[in-house]
Amino acid sequence: MTSDSIYEPVIGLEIHAQLLTESKIFCGCSTAFGARPNTHVCPVCLGLPGALPVLNRKAVDFGIRAALALNCEVPARSVFARKNYFYPDLPKGYQISQYDHPLATGGHLEYSVRKAVRRIGLIRAHLEEDAGKSLHEGFPDSPTRTYVDFNRSGVPLLEIVTQPDLRSAAEAADFFERLRAILLAIGVNDGNMEEGSLRCDANVSVRPAGSEALGTKAELKNLNSFRYLQKALEYEIDRQIGLLQSGERVVHETRLWDSVAGRTVAMRSKEEAHDYRYFPEPDLPVLEVTAERVEEIRRALPELPEARKHRLVAQYDLPEYDADILTQSVALGDYFEATAARVRNARAASNWILGEVLRRLKETGTAVTEMPIDPTRLAELIALVERGTISGSVAKDVFQTMCETGATAEAVVAAGGLAQVSDERALLVAIRDVLASNPGSVGQYRAGRTKTFGYLVGQVMKATRGQGNPQVVNDLLRRELEGK
Ligand code: ADP
Ligand code: ZN
Ligand code: MG
Repeated sequence: MTSDSIYEPVIGLEIHAQLLTESKIFCGCSTAFGARPNTHVCPVCLGLPGALPVLNRKAVDFGIRAALALNCEVPARSVFARKNYFYPDLPKGYQISQYDHPLATGGHLEYSVRKAVRRIGLIRAHLEEDAGKSLHEGFPDSPTRTYVDFNRSGVPLLEIVTQPDLRSAAEAADFFERLRAILLAIGVNDGNMEEGSLRCDANVSVRPAGSEALGTKAELKNLNSFRYLQKALEYEIDRQIGLLQSGERVVHETRLWDSVAGRTVAMRSKEEAHDYRYFPEPDLPVLEVTAERVEEIRRALPELPEARKHRLVAQYDLPEYDADILTQSVALGDYFEATAARVRNARAASNWILGEVLRRLKETGTAVTEMPIDPTRLAELIALVERGTISGSVAKDVFQTMCETGATAEAVVAAGGLAQVSDERALLVAIRDVLASNPGSVGQYRAGRTKTFGYLVGQVMKATRGQGNPQVVNDLLRRELEGK
């Protein structure tokens, strides 16, 4: 037992998800990413005096949709509030957010990991507007000036806050991936962490194992990938344990992840923290949400990843682990189900996708929607293996060629003369050659060292360039060796 294990990490996440509306939350400006700076702006999102916000109904619907997918309660009334602070990218001097009456309360995510059920509670989810973006780099006078792009100002966000229910860096990263998969599956967020449309701050503390009280936490920012989230938490947990072990105290502060140095650095202590002087937004009415609207949105929810996982396990007899991976994205699950529908054995479809397909997607850095082989074509390839026309190992080469050329499995097999050889006469020629050139192994086999059998099978397969039908090769070889 290491001394670390007498401390338990406690983690809670605050997630900002951009809601996929076409226009901003309080004005009609476009939310499109990547436009020329300050072209998607108007008096409202620039905070000009006298301009009044009008709430985007679609943003509310998306927020409710997410809240319901996350098992939250959606109260009949919620209230927008001004969160006051001064920062150059915040033109009004306050952010319109929600405070003591958020859009949604409670909620949880429940999912199984290696058959154990994990349940992570949520505290709340609320609507707010994004700020602009300070540009510190990329201009000739960047060393002395900062520019501000307000295109992002007023983009709708849903902030989701978890209970401090996560117990390790890996568990936090896994949870965040599952949350992302849900938001994508219900179509309210694009999951793009590089462009900042999905962001996560992590609150972390450590406490003596077995203790109920929470330790002093640090809040980590600048975690713009799953890897950084996990690395920053690992670093921070070690740092805090180190402090406690040497009799020091953890300071309540905000820390930035420095991905180059691979560590977190203090940004501001909570004593310097803003007093946001929240008060209800006088320019917006109380947000009323009828029970009918909530139910309508609930009825329109699609199957969520966790439910789909359990359905795949039951319907196709898959291991939970495999189904978990297949349901990480809707498109991958669809690709699997479309393939499975066209082959005799769904497990074969799953194995192909978890093996060759995912390997290719990783190598090429592409999405499953860009696969050059569609489920019908993949199913045709699998069928050739199922019928014994080609061996499994030849099939992998055929798959590769299909990806590169777009040809069908049958065409690749025909062009390459790759069909499996089951013809006994042809195989016997190869077998007798192998036996003649391996008298040592043959002698050992006949003397009872039957382990050499596998070696001889390998030699025959090699001689047939992998095209020998393994079953036929096995049978014939045994017959030849045993002189029957
Ligand atoms: P704050 O008042 O600093 O905003 P909140 O109570 O609002 O803190 O919680 C913010 C986030 O921090 C939540 O995700 C919560 O689960 C998490 N959190 C709160 N206290 C702790 C703690 N002691 N250790 C780890 N995470 C915590
Ligand atoms: Zn605007
Ligand atoms: Mg808080």
